[in-house]
Amino acid sequence: MSFLVCQALHKTYADGTEAVKGIDLVCAEGEFAVLLGPSGCGKTTTLRMLAGLEIPSTGRIKLAGDDITELSPTERDVGFVFQFYALYPHLKIEENIGFPLASMGIDKAEQRRRIAEIVERLNLRGLLGRYPRQLSGGDQQRVALARAMVRQPQIYLMDEPLGTLDADLRLEMRELIRVQQLESGITTVYVTHDQEEAMSLADRVVVMEGGRIRQDGPAATVYDEPADLFVAHFIGSPGMNFVAGEIREGHFFAQGLALTVARNLRAGPATLGIRPEFIRPDDGGVLRAKVVMDEYLGSSRTVHLQSKYGRLLMRVGDEQVFAVGAQIALSWPAERACFFDPDTG
Ligand code: ATP
Repeated sequence: MSFLVCQALHKTYADGTEAVKGIDLVCAEGEFAVLLGPSGCGKTTTLRMLAGLEIPSTGRIKLAGDDITELSPTERDVGFVFQFYALYPHLKIEENIGFPLASMGIDKAEQRRRIAEIVERLNLRGLLGRYPRQLSGGDQQRVALARAMVRQPQIYLMDEPLGTLDADLRLEMRELIRVQQLESGITTVYVTHDQEEAMSLADRVVVMEGGRIRQDGPAATVYDEPADLFVAHFIGSPGMNFVAGEIREGHFFAQGLALTVARNLRAGPATLGIRPEFIRPDDGGVLRAKVVMDEYLGSSRTVHLQSKYGRLLMRVGDEQVFAVGAQIALSWPAERACFFDPDTG
């Protein structure tokens, strides 16, 4: 069932900036959706409209069947977590966590029960009597999560909640957020520009660019079947390689390159897309390139190549080493090739 529905959301700020240009998004109850995209693509504006911190210029938002488009934040049953923890400095940790419950008028015994439960889950024992300034950044963010989660709202809205944390803590908090979300079954919309975070957390990744959704689907679909050139390049680290050419009579042609196309595609200009990890050195390979740089990355290497089709990147295991200047032939599995319309993307 559609639990959260955004219909044709637009937001133009007072200075004329068109931040969101028509977002249609539907989330099922219990789903974890991640809005992913480069800086300025409208992720935060979209989340702020869901939170009631911005009112859409046009479009509607429905939550559990109710139209909430114009309700204030306090009239919506949402739990937010932002990048900056925003804890109340004059309140002890226990009071910070219990604050939403106290504002809702929940009795003291029930408050204590709920606080104890969330403290246990988020491993916050021993910190309850301290003030926020006496906690590390990681612990403060954990408290901010606890404060959002203690309430069991209809929906969680999280805007880069792990942005300020170091790599180890991010990983730990990622697990904590996802496990907690799965256990509680609370629908979540999470904003990040970190694709690894998005892919690891999401039931659905919503890739945004320029105030619009480019693709919306499970992480594996977005990765394996990118809807357009933008998604193909934005998702993946590094992104997809591209070779310009054309499709004719079931083949892809590009300056002396002729490949059989596994799918039935219409004839005309086309861009071949192939992920760096699917390219392999192969003496019988059809594409020749020169090694420009061999980047050692610990568990893998990224090999930078120059070819007559442009710059290409190949991702291989750490056991293979390539001499700079060497000429190599390359191939890839035909079913891994993607084709894009160069005019529309
Ligand atoms: P980031 O990841 O950098 O936070 P974002 O994808 O979340 O980016 P938004 O913060 O939603 O993007 O911003 C979208 C666009 O709207 C940007 O061009 C931004 O400069 C602009 N914008 C955001 N808030 C306002 C505002 N209050 N007034 C005018 N323009 C704004």
